[in-house]
Amino acid sequence: MSIRFDGKVAIVTGAGNGLGRSHALELAARGAKVVINDLGGARDGVGASSAAADGVVAEIQAAGGEAFAHGANVAIFSEVEDMVAQAMAKWGRVDILINNAGILRDKSFSKMSIDDFKLVMDVHVMGSVNCTKAVWEIMKQQGYGRIVMTTSSSGLYGNFGQANYGAAKMAVVGLMNTLAIEGAKYNIHVNSLAPTAATRMTEDIMPAEILGMLVPEAVTAGALTLCHDNAPSRFILCAGGGGYAKSSIFETDGIYLSPEERSPEAVAGQWDDICNTSNQAELESGFKQSEKFLLKAQAFVQGA
Ligand code: NAD
Repeated sequence: MSIRFDGKVAIVTGAGNGLGRSHALELAARGAKVVINDLGGARDGVGASSAAADGVVAEIQAAGGEAFAHGANVAIFSEVEDMVAQAMAKWGRVDILINNAGILRDKSFSKMSIDDFKLVMDVHVMGSVNCTKAVWEIMKQQGYGRIVMTTSSSGLYGNFGQANYGAAKMAVVGLMNTLAIEGAKYNIHVNSLAPTAATRMTEDIMPAEILGMLVPEAVTAGALTLCHDNAPSRFILCAGGGGYAKSSIFETDGIYLSPEERSPEAVAGQWDDICNTSNQAELESGFKQSEKFLLKAQAFVQGA
């Protein structure tokens, strides 16, 4: 095994079941000490239990690894702070954070209550913010950190009945974009994982023969490439059933309209040029978009 995590301390949220459990087992098998966080509620976020997290800790310990369970609700910052304080007291550092905890409250937008929207945002978005905030200064001081956000094809591309979940899953990509920029000089790498796997989250939306192909371990093989020493930063890795792909946001080069030309009709009239992908690019930051437009304006003024 050339990708090892010896001496590293990892926190995996929602690690009592499904993907989080699989990530935690593999991190421990490769030498990491792992905090097994799980609130232990149902798929829709109702209830709490320590049974699942305790079971994963027992599995890791039985294999000779080190782990402890913590039942923090990731949506509550004080509980997350307590979890990180316990990890620091026990092991003195936090190298890896996999923000994986999640719930579903699917309904068409017409039927979705504001409470169902807010709870999903709280767990996925504020859960990722809370956990990341609680380890950020530690990682800065260490000069080392690897953070994984768990996004979803539903956030990247949309899915019927998942307005809350899709909004939350795209929000964590936005969080990654800025934190990857801010973390770069401290050797903090921030990436996103878009998984597809058979877990209790997906058990009733796909036929059994397909679920059998979507083992969580296939996603974990990708997840661990996002949090080791040589991991990239600001990468969106899609993983499922043995398939691995990169997802990106590109922007076309676009057009420039002079002050006299600017009208909705002129913009609509150049739609094909606006959509021309031949010179599209991934932008390093939001400022690069302003820079591109200002350069076009400058070129016009100089040419005029
Ligand atoms: P899962 O339901 O098996 O596991 C999620 C875990 O998160 C559970 O153990 C649950 O107790 C825990 N959890 C929920 N709310 C929590 C909270 N507030 N605090 C702490 N723990 C909490 O689901 P999974 O499929 O393993 O999902 C893991 C992640 O992957 C989620 O973020 C999910 O949205 C994402 N995801 C999964 C798929 C898929 O195909 N399974 C696809 C896209 C994204």
